[in-house]
Formats: sequence, C-alpha cells, structure tokens
Amino acid sequence: MKERPRVVILGGGIGGIKAAQQLANQPVDVLIIDHNNYQVFQPLLYQVATSMLSTDEVVYPIRGFFKKANNVDFLLAEVRGIQPEAKIVKTSHGDVPYDYLIIALGSTPNFFGNKEVERNAFPLKTLQDAIRIRSHLLSVFEEASAEPDPEKRKALLTFVFVGAGPIGVEGAGGVSELVYDVLQKEFHHIDFDEVSIHLIGADPCVLSMMSEKLRIETLKVLQKKRIDVQCSMLVTGYDGETLSYRPMKAPKDAPCSTIKAKTVVWSAGVRPVDCLSSFACEKDRGKRLLIDDTIRVPGMQDIFAIGDCSSYTPPGEQRPLPTLAPVALAEGELAAKNILHDVRGEEMEHLHYKSKGVMAIIGNSEAVMEAGPLRGRGFLAWSAWLWIHLLTKAGFHANISVTFKWIFNYFSGTRLGRLITRPELQGLPESIKNTPEVKDVGAEKQAS
Ligand SMILES: Cc1cc2nc3c(=O)[nH]c(=O)nc-3n(C[C@H](O)[C@H](O)[C@H](O)COP(=O)(O)OP(=O)(O)OC[C@H]3O[C@@H](n4cnc5c(N)ncnc54)[C@H](O)[C@@H]3O)c2cc1C
Repeated sequence: MKERPRVVILGGGIGGIKAAQQLANQPVDVLIIDHNNYQVFQPLLYQVATSMLSTDEVVYPIRGFFKKANNVDFLLAEVRGIQPEAKIVKTSHGDVPYDYLIIALGSTPNFFGNKEVERNAFPLKTLQDAIRIRSHLLSVFEEASAEPDPEKRKALLTFVFVGAGPIGVEGAGGVSELVYDVLQKEFHHIDFDEVSIHLIGADPCVLSMMSEKLRIETLKVLQKKRIDVQCSMLVTGYDGETLSYRPMKAPKDAPCSTIKAKTVVWSAGVRPVDCLSSFACEKDRGKRLLIDDTIRVPGMQDIFAIGDCSSYTPPGEQRPLPTLAPVALAEGELAAKNILHDVRGEEMEHLHYKSKGVMAIIGNSEAVMEAGPLRGRGFLAWSAWLWIHLLTKAGFHANISVTFKWIFNYFSGTRLGRLITRPELQGLPESIKNTPEVKDVGAEKQAS
C-alpha cells in the first residue's frame, strides 16, 4: 500500500461527514463523493416542508467542514457502482480508485414495489422533496380557495401521511399547525371544517418504539391536532386522486377503504440506494449491507459500510440497529478509527452501540421522549428535542438563524418561508443533471 493510503467516502451525509472529520489531518488522503455539494440535516426536513425553516437552515456545504483539513477533498459526482476486485468506484466523473472505502450512501424511500404509489405520493427524504411538498401544500390551498366544486375542494384539502413512525407523526403534526395556526388566519374563503389530515400506519400503534404510556399520549396530542389516526393498515394504491387501504390482517381480496386526497406523503420505510443493488455482498432482508462489529463488510478487508445503508445486529438482539442519525455517527466514527488502526498495523476496535433514547416532536410545545428511565412529553420534551437537534446540526451561523426563526415562529404564529417555487435545472453541471432527484425535478418542471 502507498505511504498515504487513499480513503474514499461515498456520501457526504451524517455518517460520511463524521468519518471524514475523524480522518481530517491524519496520515491518509480522503475523498468524499456526493451528488450534492451539501450535507442535509434530514430531521429538520419536515420543517422546510411546512415552511418553518428555509432551505439553507437545514443544509451545510460539504467543503465547509474541511477548511482546516488539507487532506480532505470533495468530488461532486453520482456514484454508480463499486468494483471491489479492481478497487475502484464507478462515478459520473469516471473511475475513482481507493485503498479503503467507506460506503455511506444512506437510503431512499421504500414503496415496497408499489409503482403506482411511488409515482403519485410525495417522499420526504431529500431537500428537493421538502421543497416540492412545501410548494404543493401551499398550492393546494391557493387552488382550493378558488375551487367552486365542493368535492374537488375537499380532495384538495385532504392530507394523508403514510407511516406512523417519527417522520409521519412529525409531518402530520407540522401540517396541522401550518393549516390551523397559520393558513386559517389568511384564507378567508376556505371553510376549515373541510380540511382533513390523516395518519395511516402499518404498525399496531403510532411510534411503536416508544413505551405504551407515551404512545397513548402521542395519540391524544394527534387527536387534539385534528389528525385522524389509523393503525394496522396496509396502503394498497394511490393514483394521485384516491388512496386505498385495508387492515393488515384482511385477506388480499377484502374490499379497501378509500380517501380522496390530492396530497399523500410517504414515510413508510427506507431501503438502500439503487447503485448498491449490484454490489455483491451479504445483505439483510431489507437489502442493507451486512457489516461486522468492526464496521467492515464481511469478506472485504478494506470496505466499510455505515449508517442507513448498512445493517448490524448486536449480539443477543433480534433486530438490526435502527436507521437513525446517532447510529450513522457512531459507525462513521468507528469506521474511520479502524482504518487508522489498520494503517498503523493495530488491532481494530469493536462497535458497542448504546442508544441514547428516542424522541419525536408533534408540534409547537409538544414532543415525546424516552431516554433510559427518563420519560417525558410536552414543553420540556419539546425543548429537549429542539436543543438536541440544534447541537447535532452543523453550522454555527445557520443554528443562530434557526434559533431566531423558532422563537419568531413561536411568538408570531406565522411562517415567513411560505414560498411556492419551481426549481430550475439551468446551470447544473451535466454530471449531476441525471441524478434521480434532479431528474424528478426536471420532469416536474417540464410537466408544469
Ligand atoms: C424526514 C426525516 C426525518 C428524520 N428524523 C430523524 C430524527 O429525528 N432523529 C434521527 O436520529 N434520525 C432521523 N432521521 C434519520 C437520519 O436522518 C438518518 O438515519 C441519517 O441521515 C443516516 O445517515 P447516513 O450518513 O447513513 O445517510 P445520509 O445522511 O442520508 O447521507 C447519504 C448521502 O449520500 C448521498 N448519496 C446518496 N446516493 C448517492 C449517489 N448515488 N451518488 C452520490 N451521492 C449519493 C446523499 O446525497 C447523502 O448526502 C430522519 C430521516 C428523515 C428522512
């Protein structure tokens, strides 16, 4: 191996950046490859979708992390595949050789093969998704305000969130506040009794990872926010007009219930990104790359996989670690440490992940949290959620602005980021024009 091995990190998200930070100013050359030049802080995406925060408050430029680390470089490119035998990564900028590889490509929404739902529902995973949802939510209110047909108006004012985990709960809660606390004051010709918000999940309850007490509290808060919650339900189709679903345990040919809705937001699961499907290694049921407790892909000495795209089940546990930011951070840190150990000819360390707890925000002053024996809901849990997310998020300047925005939103009861935008493709380099998310925006633009 060369004197300074080259570590290539695929993905500049939460885990990838953590790994690169550990390798900064160490005796290795690091290259981060991502199709965006910024890191997205996904836990705050729903706040962009509901006009609470603006886009630059939830992202941070990747190069900005490494001002003081000459050994870390960045390549704006689409990753297309990995060839472990040749030790190269296939990208939209050609082949990139590596000595060590950290795969940190995150995940993409899982529609479980339902192409109709995939075509018509809104995922909430990327910054573009959040901008699209924001524009759509605001557009349907503008349309409803001028729509004389009551049936069409009702469909415009019906919002369905599929997936009763934290993303669905946060999203539905956020929309309820946008609708009843902000828009209701301004759309004088809309009867807000015509608005309906639904949360539909496959699990038997909302926030299934929380204790029963907090799940019941969450349900009460959601009902107070006028959100209709239906659990143990399987969504079977959505053609852009009508969503159909039936109880999980009902036979396949059982009649489906339907909801007429112009907005369906999908947060019912994730799977690894497509470019990893041809990567030959052991995978779990969800197609995530299996890793061992040194974070390596078994059988591949120089390839590590971290975060949402990887799967590690601790000894004695039934389920792999969840797809959460703290897991990606812990794995990113350890992958980098183990590469340095390997470079120095030292023993590798093993992963001992201990969950620090789970929390979900349900709206202004309302959240639930559980950390070991500590349980809470309401204002305290909400404040804890805000501060923990602020401290985890990158960017001092953006964090100051986020703090002021939250305070402003809280006391003013308005949201200034209510922009209906049409993202433009012009000016983007060819190398990223064809990435799936940019292509989607292009298709939407052509259609409009
Ligand atoms: C709406 C939402 C809310 C969430 N809320 C929470 C929360 O409250 N708490 C929590 O702990 N977790 C939350 N999560 C989960 C958390 O954000 C993820 O677990 C975490 O981001 C995973 O980090 P990662 O590094 O594995 O992937 P990511 O952070 O997703 O990074 C993957 C990177 O890979 C890049 N990439 C992907 N494909 C390619 C390609 N082909 N070519 C080039 N680049 C590519 C992407 O641009 C991205 O930068 C939330 C997720 C979402 C979507």
